[in-house]
Amino acid sequence: MLGSHLDSVPFGGRFDGALGVLAALEVARSLNDRGILTRRPIEVVNWTNEEGPRFPPAMLGSGVFCGKYGRDWAYARRDGEGKRFGEELERIGYRGPVPCRPRPLGGYLELHIEQGPVLESEGVQVGAVEGIVGIVWLRVTMKGERDHAGPTPMSMRRDALVGAARAIAAIREIPGKLHPDMVATVGEMSVSPNAINVIPDRAAFSVDFRHSDEGLMRRAREMVMETVEDAARGEKLEVSVEEVGGSTALPFHPEAVGAVAGACREAGYTFRRMWSAAGHDARYTAELGPAAMIFIPCTGGKSHTEIEDASWEDAARGCDVLARALITLAGRAG
Ligand SMILES: [Zn+2]
Repeated sequence: MLGSHLDSVPFGGRFDGALGVLAALEVARSLNDRGILTRRPIEVVNWTNEEGPRFPPAMLGSGVFCGKYGRDWAYARRDGEGKRFGEELERIGYRGPVPCRPRPLGGYLELHIEQGPVLESEGVQVGAVEGIVGIVWLRVTMKGERDHAGPTPMSMRRDALVGAARAIAAIREIPGKLHPDMVATVGEMSVSPNAINVIPDRAAFSVDFRHSDEGLMRRAREMVMETVEDAARGEKLEVSVEEVGGSTALPFHPEAVGAVAGACREAGYTFRRMWSAAGHDARYTAELGPAAMIFIPCTGGKSHTEIEDASWEDAARGCDVLARALITLAGRAG
């Protein structure tokens, strides 16, 4: 099975997902043009709702296909206007009759832009993706005491926002202490009462950690706890750290990753092994058979924005690797 997704995010680009679907189609057509037969049959797939901003969760179509979500549960997901996913599929003529349920795959390959700057900055042509990193999502809440911004002396304040600010600055330093490839992001925050002349009594923020090593991720979680408690002490705050989501790291099958690496060698392209720090449908299809992904560089590493771009030369190299790796996994019959 070859493919990716055609849906996007608001203000998304034209390569994220679409490249992998069109490349899969191109590979199937090229095999036909050249009369190349494979021992295993080939399927081209366009996964519905990979991104998920309109109908959360992300990777809904591949999630149903791989048995993670029930079909009717997926159909019942609603968008912000209350419209149901199943009814919207019906409306656009995409609620098909073919059963969407788990079955073994001989292999799954997905070509995708890297969505990061590593290949471009290192001048490497292709990424042989070894797996998808684990994600930890935390919600940190710090509670102090609401008071007047004027008469309350500095020494008598319990300012939740000051505690949060110190914690956030310290959380940024955690990846550097654990591994060069680990990343941490505080992307969302709420402050109460959020007024210019009131000392904030409550500040809550999100933390997103990503890495391929589960042991280091556990350590990162502990370090967030220690960091938050240290930051709270100075302002005498109460704190809570809650796990609100995430997923464990998923290594791809060595046979499929090896087929991608072998295809790069055979074609004479420079490549490196790397982990994907973003989620993809391959995460679920990997449960049904040997899966791997192929990354190509994208301009400036930018993605999920209209300026997302990639060169046609890189796209063609990606297609070539996809075709060669496919022939390895599917077996050449003629
Ligand atoms: Zn994508």
